[in-house]
Amino acid sequence: TASENIVLHVADVSKSFGGLKALSDVDLQVREGTVHAIIGPNGAGKSTLLNVCIGRLKPTTGHVVFNGQTLDQHQPHEINQLGVSRVFQTPEIFADLTLLDNVMIPAFAKRDGAYRFNAMAALSGQADIRTEAEEVLQDIGLLEKSNQIAGSLSRGDKRRLEMAMCLIQKPKLLLLDEPTAGMARHDTNMTIELLKRIKKRGMTKVIIEHDMHVVFSLADRISVLAQGRIIAEGTPEEVRNSPKVKEAYLGE
Ligand code: ADP
Ligand code: MG
Repeated sequence: TASENIVLHVADVSKSFGGLKALSDVDLQVREGTVHAIIGPNGAGKSTLLNVCIGRLKPTTGHVVFNGQTLDQHQPHEINQLGVSRVFQTPEIFADLTLLDNVMIPAFAKRDGAYRFNAMAALSGQADIRTEAEEVLQDIGLLEKSNQIAGSLSRGDKRRLEMAMCLIQKPKLLLLDEPTAGMARHDTNMTIELLKRIKKRGMTKVIIEHDMHVVFSLADRISVLAQGRIIAEGTPEEVRNSPKVKEAYLGE
């Protein structure tokens, strides 16, 4: 059945930085329509794993397979066009442009390819994409600010803007690296609510989190990464009760 389709398969991936092995034989399968969380202490290799999935880093050994297609030769923008969008740990937005422009640009990049489109030309007079961008901004609660310069936003709003920039691409797979990192409680709660709302749309998500509390309210499955290895995997209940997991978090 469709629910058993594997959207993302990280197949026996290792990644070394010089003598440091950041990932060791990581094998991970993400099923279509699920929220799959990756948790683990600082330095466990979570961001490295995400960067391998989007093509920013190439595995030292092993492969990343998206929708049955091996991504060994793909550049990040090609992987994005195949249907993978991501929210980084540090927001990557166009600080000098308005929110509306920020949300329109990824829509053009997805449609026309990162090398073929001219952002400024694209931004003028594209009524269809403008309407879509306004809908996404409304959805995410930022429509009133659509003409503000993105650099002036609060940290929480920047993070939400980056999420809007992903959502307009209608990705098959959305990867989020610590979407609530550095947020105040109010912004964290708003982000969790937002993630719950978009969960209902069936888009497959991989969410990397340091904060277990965030993950337990969202995830269908959890993989626990420690020192570059997956040490546990299962439902939130299974992971919560795993002695190995408690141990991995004790050293913090
Ligand atoms: P996490 O996101 O779980 O906190 P990271 O994936 O950022 O962990 O880092 C895992 C390990 O790899 C850390 O020891 C980190 O210092 C190291 N590392 C990450 N990126 C690089 C890099 N580009 N060059 C060298 N070492 C790196
Ligand atoms: Mg990280």
